[in-house]
Amino acid sequence: MLKLYKLSVFTGILVCFGILSSLSGSICLADSFQSPDFSIHKLSSPSLENQKQGRTVLIIGGIQGDEPGGFNAASLIVTQYKILSGNVWVVPNLNFLSIIKRSRGVYGDLNRKFDKLDPGDPEFKTINRIKKLIADPKVDLVLNLHDGSGFFRNQYIDKMQNPNRWGQCIIIDQKTVKHDAFPNLTRMAQKAADQVNQHLIKSEEHFLVNNTQTARGNNEMAKTLTWFSIKNKKPAFGIEASKSFLTPKRTYYHLRAIESFFNQVGIKFERNFKLTQKQIKKAIDDDIQVAFNNSKILLKIENARKQLNYIPLRKNYDIEFTVNNPLMAIIPSGNAFSVIHGNRRMTHLSPQYFDYDFSIDAIKMIIDDTPQTVSFGQIIPVKNSFLVQHMKEHRVNIIGFTRKGLSNESGVIIKKEQVLKKYSIDKKGSIFRVEIYKEKKFSGMILVDFSANKDSDLKIAAKNRLVDQSKKLF
Ligand SMILES: [Zn+2]
Repeated sequence: MLKLYKLSVFTGILVCFGILSSLSGSICLADSFQSPDFSIHKLSSPSLENQKQGRTVLIIGGIQGDEPGGFNAASLIVTQYKILSGNVWVVPNLNFLSIIKRSRGVYGDLNRKFDKLDPGDPEFKTINRIKKLIADPKVDLVLNLHDGSGFFRNQYIDKMQNPNRWGQCIIIDQKTVKHDAFPNLTRMAQKAADQVNQHLIKSEEHFLVNNTQTARGNNEMAKTLTWFSIKNKKPAFGIEASKSFLTPKRTYYHLRAIESFFNQVGIKFERNFKLTQKQIKKAIDDDIQVAFNNSKILLKIENARKQLNYIPLRKNYDIEFTVNNPLMAIIPSGNAFSVIHGNRRMTHLSPQYFDYDFSIDAIKMIIDDTPQTVSFGQIIPVKNSFLVQHMKEHRVNIIGFTRKGLSNESGVIIKKEQVLKKYSIDKKGSIFRVEIYKEKKFSGMILVDFSANKDSDLKIAAKNRLVDQSKKLF
């Protein structure tokens, strides 16, 4: 069966195209690269009735850019959860520039800017935008996701386990808040900790409740997002997973705690994967794609090679791209581009610039003996062989395939072993580019995927969820 992917989700424009060649990547990034704003994803049940009745939880990830457990957990809620009753609003990338640059805070600590802030501060707008969202009358509960050092423990045990560490706890600013439904912060935090503790990977990783007693003169905490929420009469909790763990384990604990809060406020949900470290790792990397120029080009980025060369981008135009994951960004890097997911550089795209041809948007192919019309920007699963039908005015270039004396590779039956593995876009040597040109102009690209018959459950889930994905955005 033909499986088609559609990108519809996050878009951006690289504005510094014109001056790229004369500037280094970092200068370009600071001066003319549009620092991406955080995104807001409103997830709710399809039934209006359930939306209205249900509570609304606001989840915030990435307030500090170097805490991937938190922002990956938030991102997974967007990409891999289905909300069946109630509402979940997610900001998975609050400090997006710092996430991209793997810095705690490019402009200082964003979580110390919620009290007073100079209007000249580069993050003034970000702060106002998130404050407005927190104060929205619909929001019933706020969760701020962090990765903290070591292990918060009530008594001093050693350097990594003591009252001054932050890992493995639920943070509250005080015991209660004036809220009609959820006034008892201690009880809710304790319940979340208890529920996490029923599913510990190792017993010494248990969660505690950490009351910072902010109102009693804790000046640092008075500048934070959760305290701003409390002042606005919103129940608010910090969730801290330990930086002593790798990202999937941190994410595991975040999701356990988040799901406890969902249960406590009556939000029903479905998740596309099992809560194990292995499945979480898979889910984080699942289905990461970028499309350029209205999907003339689509690249599958998970497992991509470190460097992808001669990507046919459009000459003399801003580079328009679309990504399907809220942690993705594309940033200029020298004369090329880095594709970023969270703190990780997934691949490096080295462009070759072409004028574009818009005379066709699909090609005719024979995939495993079945004729198909295939639009540009698709990934086509192939079991054994494919062929691109001959076109009058267009030429076919299968990257990694050459036959002497052949400048147009249409009409040739191509099997996997005939394409040089090192030209695949994925590390495993399974996904190849088929590019179409009209004279010297680039018309479009499709990908053929020789691994696609080994479908994982995740891929099927991903396909189903892409149908819903547009609903989550506003
Ligand atoms: Zn933090």
